[in-house]
Amino acid sequence: MHWNTVLITAVALFAIITARYFAIAGFFYWALWKRAGNLLRARKLTDIVPPAKLVRSEMRWSVVASAIYAVPGAIVLEAWKNGGTAIYMDIGEYGWPWYFASVPAYLFIHDTYFYWTHRMMHHPKIFPVMHKVHHESRQPTPWAGFSFHPTESMLGAVILPILVFIIPIHVSAILFILVLMTIVSVTNHSGYEILPDSWLRGIVGRNWISAAHHNLHHQTYTCNYALYFRFWDKIMGTDRLETEYEFLRVPADGLVAAGRNSGSTR
Ligand SMILES: [Zn+2]
Ligand SMILES: [Zn+2]
Repeated sequence: MHWNTVLITAVALFAIITARYFAIAGFFYWALWKRAGNLLRARKLTDIVPPAKLVRSEMRWSVVASAIYAVPGAIVLEAWKNGGTAIYMDIGEYGWPWYFASVPAYLFIHDTYFYWTHRMMHHPKIFPVMHKVHHESRQPTPWAGFSFHPTESMLGAVILPILVFIIPIHVSAILFILVLMTIVSVTNHSGYEILPDSWLRGIVGRNWISAAHHNLHHQTYTCNYALYFRFWDKIMGTDRLETEYEFLRVPADGLVAAGRNSGSTR
């Protein structure tokens, strides 16, 4: 591998990752905060108005994070060009079942890594160094999606590049995961819930993390550590959602019906 090629690729990737962040975060900031959520029929989660200074700081840290993400990304890209990764081009190589299974497999492994490294960063000795920057956004905005201290960005940046050397994944599946990851990071920090209440009360909201779930992490610090799924939070007893929001509580006369449908009254 030629290291000056890696450097040039890293600079190009930095430009692409930054542009992707500004496009996605900019869209949601405009659609939610500038249009008061009406455009996406979103529900505002708190009345806290983040100061402009905080928004600027979220942007700055996110640009730094984009530069850090670009480095392992460039190493992967160069290794891939030389045929040294498990990223493949021909779906037939592993078949359609693996093509569709590889995405949830990647998301679950990433989610597991995120949950446990995130819990580690809440250790009182580690928090002030690695994770305080991210929690300066008591009420985050879409710009907080990548707002991490460089040490936290590095910890987060290595997992997908390691996985693509080990677990086969089609090039379109990994690109899909990268875009999904950016959208999820941005929308979960947006301060507005964009999923309809019926989804939140149903199978999607019971398992998938959205803004209402992650907003509680920023407000309380003691719950909801995961990235994509509520699985680890539920297993480890750190999950909170339904009891915290009026709009998610099942109405008293709906308890019996809900219990019959889901097998529990939770
Ligand atoms: Zn966060
Ligand atoms: Zn945290």
